[in-house]
Amino acid sequence: MTEIPDLLARRTAEQKRIRMLLDSMRAEEEAKLKGGEDAVAWVKEELCIGCDQCTIVCDDDAIELYDTPLASPIMDVDVNRKARILRDECTGCRLCALGCPTDAIIMIDR
Ligand code: SF4
Ligand code: SF4
Repeated sequence: MTEIPDLLARRTAEQKRIRMLLDSMRAEEEAKLKGGEDAVAWVKEELCIGCDQCTIVCDDDAIELYDTPLASPIMDVDVNRKARILRDECTGCRLCALGCPTDAIIMIDR
């Protein structure tokens, strides 16, 4: 019969394996992201949850949040916010795309 310490050890090993896999996938994703003066950030509105992380990391004041009606009529919330990029201010540094928890920001050609 499996003992609890064995189970915990297996779980820790599995967590480590998954963490390494996710880190390596993330590193590949980061390496593929465009950046620099020829690139600009773009928000996929349907993925944005208005969490404000991108505005915190953007040093160039190139992101603003705006209120928009909620797509689903069943939910009742006071404010539904989305992020939008100000193209002229965006320097293409990629920080927002790397920091967005829902992968709502992509880098596109300017
Ligand atoms: S970090 Fe991502 S999800 Fe959060 S407000 Fe910015 S774009 Fe939206
Ligand atoms: S790419 Fe950089 S400058 Fe442009 S919006 Fe994102 S964090 Fe701001």
